[in-house]
Formats: sequence, structure tokens, C-alpha cells
Amino acid sequence: MIAHLRLKAYGKINLALDVLGRKPDGYHEVRMVMQTVGLHDRIDLYRTREPGIRLETNLFYLPDNEQNLAYRAAALLFEEFGIKEGLSIRLRKFIPVSAGMAGGSTDAAAVLYGVNRMFGLELTLQELMERGVKLGADIPYCIMRGTALSEGIGEKLTRLPAIPQCQVLIAKPGISVSTKTVYESLDAMDLKPEDHPDIDGMIEEIRKKDLYAVAGKFGNVLERVTAGRYPVIGQIEDLMKEQGAVNAMMSGSGPTVFGLFTNPAAARKAYQVLRYGEGSGLAKQVYLTNFFNIGKSTAGRPRR
Ligand code: ATP
Repeated sequence: MIAHLRLKAYGKINLALDVLGRKPDGYHEVRMVMQTVGLHDRIDLYRTREPGIRLETNLFYLPDNEQNLAYRAAALLFEEFGIKEGLSIRLRKFIPVSAGMAGGSTDAAAVLYGVNRMFGLELTLQELMERGVKLGADIPYCIMRGTALSEGIGEKLTRLPAIPQCQVLIAKPGISVSTKTVYESLDAMDLKPEDHPDIDGMIEEIRKKDLYAVAGKFGNVLERVTAGRYPVIGQIEDLMKEQGAVNAMMSGSGPTVFGLFTNPAAARKAYQVLRYGEGSGLAKQVYLTNFFNIGKSTAGRPRR
């Protein structure tokens, strides 16, 4: 019997993000190239004698009830499988919140995975993804992880080859944006064909394993909305490029900006500049990480 599971819930960045339209049910049809990064939350799951689900987080402003996606993920499986025992979830957040890095979705994905193992539900990853999408469009991808093309509302996933490893500098300005509001603003905009990223072109470069060419195809249709409203996003991108980033862009609906570096020393220097130097007024949270690729590492496997 598994009494305790320790999990890592990894964040993501979007190397490309396109919105194809809005469906009558309000969901948006998207086409996105997703990449998991090493920056992760930590989740401990403990089986308890006392029935029910309890959640404790290290951030006072995050909900510790059904409002939290991690809680909701456990509740979904508890209800479906009539689990009578108890579960205590300890969540320590490191992924910036409301940042465009799927922080909540990846916590939910890890809890689905963990509860499945802990209580011997024997659901396949595909079956977990089908349950995950009911809670959030990015959850199936957070279960899959690695490099992938995400289509539909996020439930149609195609694995892509791993991109050559590099340093990923992540900087979140001290603003929070609502994903819902960004999509609403995009709906009101008149987009031209050239506003859409060349996702097929990026996939071709990924298959060729050419990091520079992949970075040359960066594009995020939501950047027009968020970066238009907050010039600090463009300023962080410019600073990262000045510091030697191959390219820099906003992730998801923002406001987090990421830059890819092939030179570790330049990446460390850029980190210092944003954290303590002349860029310290631009970003509130700064992290230096890399790509998390499936099959390359045992990180993230649960420890009993
Ligand atoms: P996405 O990239 O999918 O748009 P995001 O990074 O913009 O996600 P999150 O950090 O996942 O945003 O979630 C932001 C909102 O969701 C906050 O209002 C927060 O209170 C709520 N939330 C619920 N559960 C969580 C969780 N486990 N971690 C972070 N936020 C959560």
C-alpha cells in the first residue's frame, strides 16, 4: 500500500500559440507548441484514516478548497471511484501564479496521476487525460509532458521530438493577467493572416533539431493583447535579447516572458541583470531553468 507519494508538477512554456476561433460553447480552438520546463511545484500526497480531502499550500492567497485545481482533481477521482479513505495534499508552489505557465493545471495533472497510483485505480494515462480535460484544457498536456503540439481546446495532443537542450530564463513582471480577459480582448480584435505564427514551419524545424530555427519561428497571437497593454513585457524581451538570448517571447496569456540561451554563462549573467541589476525593476520573479524532456530524466517519477 502506498502511504505517501512525492511528486513534481512541472510548468510549461508555449513556443508557439495560435487561436483559430471561438466555439459556440465559449472555448477557443487553439494550436500550440508546448514545452515542459524544469521549474516545478512540489506535491506530497498522504493517505489518511480520516475520510475526505484536505489541502494545505504555502501561499496564503491560494484557495485550499474546491477552488484549487489540485483539490478538484482529487475530488473527481474520489467521487468516481467512491474512495472512502482520506487524502491530505501538501502543495508547495514555485511556478508563478496567473503567469501563463499552467501552474494550476500541472498541479491537477500530478494529483490525478498520484491518486491513480496511490489508490490502485489502474487508469491509463489516456484515461487520466480524458478526466483531466473536464477540469481544464491544459491538463491533458500536463499529464503527457515534453514537447507536443496541442490542438482542439487542448485535448488533441501529438508528441513532437525533443528540442536540443538549452537554458530557459523565465521572468514574470509584477502584474497578473486573467486568461479569460485576454481571450475576450483577442475576440474583439481583427487579426490579419500575418499575425498568426507559422506553427507548421516550427514543427519542421523541431524535426530538424535546429534550436536557432525553432526560436526564429516563435509566435504568440495573445502577445498582441497582453504586451500591448503592458510594455514591460517587450522591455524584458529586449533585455533578454541584448543579453544574448537566441529569442524571447511571452508564454501563454502572459505576462511571463521566457528567453532561450545556448551559452550558460550568458544565461546566468542575464539572470543576474534581471534579478539584481538594471533589469530588477522589470521582473518580480526570475528563474533559470531548462527544458524537461520525457525519457531523458527520471526526475518527476514519484518516490515512495
Ligand atoms: P494558464 O497558463 O493555464 O493560463 P496560469 O499560469 O495563467 O495558467 P494558474 O497559476 O494556473 O494560471 O492559475 C491562476 C488562477 O487559478 C488563480 O486565480 C488561482 O487562484 C487559481 N488556482 C487554482 N488552483 C491553483 C493552483 N493549484 N495553483 C495556482 N493557481 C491556482
